[in-house]
Amino acid sequence: MKYKPANEIQDLQYFGEFGGVNPSISDSSTYTFLSAKTMFDTFEGNADGCYLYSRHSSPSNLYLGEALAAMEGTETANVAASGMGAITGALLQLCKAGDHIVSSRTIYGGTYAFLKNFAPRLNIDTAFVDITQLDVVEAAITKNTKLLYCESVSNPLLEVADIAGLSKIAKKHGLTLIVDNTFSPLAITPTKLGADVVIHSLTKFINGSSDTVGGVTCGTQDFINSLRSVIDGANMLLGPTMDSLRAASVLKNMRTLHIRIQQHSKNAMFLAKKFEADGFRTVYPGLASHPSHKLYKKMMNPEYGFGGMMTIDVGSLDKANELMELMQKRNLGYLAVSLGFYKTLFSSPGTSTSSEIPEEEQKEMGLTDGLIRFSIGLDNDIERTYEIMRKCMQDVGLLKSEMA
Ligand SMILES: *Cc1c(COP(=O)(O)O)cnc(C)c1O
Repeated sequence: MKYKPANEIQDLQYFGEFGGVNPSISDSSTYTFLSAKTMFDTFEGNADGCYLYSRHSSPSNLYLGEALAAMEGTETANVAASGMGAITGALLQLCKAGDHIVSSRTIYGGTYAFLKNFAPRLNIDTAFVDITQLDVVEAAITKNTKLLYCESVSNPLLEVADIAGLSKIAKKHGLTLIVDNTFSPLAITPTKLGADVVIHSLTKFINGSSDTVGGVTCGTQDFINSLRSVIDGANMLLGPTMDSLRAASVLKNMRTLHIRIQQHSKNAMFLAKKFEADGFRTVYPGLASHPSHKLYKKMMNPEYGFGGMMTIDVGSLDKANELMELMQKRNLGYLAVSLGFYKTLFSSPGTSTSSEIPEEEQKEMGLTDGLIRFSIGLDNDIERTYEIMRKCMQDVGLLKSEMA
């Protein structure tokens, strides 16, 4: 039976402090204790339901964490100030100096930069591999490897990770499998395929209104406790804490996530088919031409579709820039990084979100100059959008105009 993550979110029941149907926002940095003994117990981690200080946890953050854990089918979750705050905390919690990571080479630019440039300062080294080749992944494992890292659908190339296959390898070698599921919330549930830890940048689809950054780590109670440990917890000690007001606001947006994802997917599917028929090299997991179309289909929770992200290749950076500027001028969306907004967002990854990746490596992984990454919006009338887009493509000389 397929997992229905939106049901899990829907079924959570909240009673606010004063009977509100939204949980009350706890806007407090610190908390009183009626007895000194309880304060001691709380620091020792032995006083359930007591809060000590909001860098550790707060009621609003726990509510949001519970909703995200329900979505991902994990015991619990810890929210963070940003996706990078969640990612770096989890990696540093699991690795010490001398340890080794095997990571997909097509990952978010910030994660890549952290693993490539920052983690080596702590003597944590990473092998970057083609995540779609399971034998290559396994061959990269050394005696010091602690974890496998990938994105379920990768940024920006939309490569799909075989999470069940990776999980088998991880189990065989005693490694932790961490999956960044930012591109496919609801559609893919990595823990149901064997992932140990699931991370999201809440900044994207989950919050969906481009008004905040945020992140989450979903995992076992033991792992989340370790992140929050006052003794040696990465999230507690490095301090990437989400603000309570933000947590409450992200939680509200989460309630419409299933409706939004369905609309993003429907619109992206429509445009991907059109662009492909127009002759553009179009990458979208929903197209039969996508190398991992079947794999995605096998992994997905079907009602949410293939997501809102796609790329087309228009041949050169100049053409890409010309087209994006015109599309923005004609109000089809914004020339902006990030994703998951109600309007379409487009950018050229090679010179923006993936510019951390050196040029030769970009080439090797198929990240071409003319690539445009689209985060397709919630447009009510996607056919109208397509007509205007096609006109833009004609006006920059990428498509022949019918009149000519
Ligand atoms: C944006 C993004 C991140 C980083 O999240 P922030 O909230 O910007 O820190 C990580 N992974 C993926 C796949 C992303 O798209």
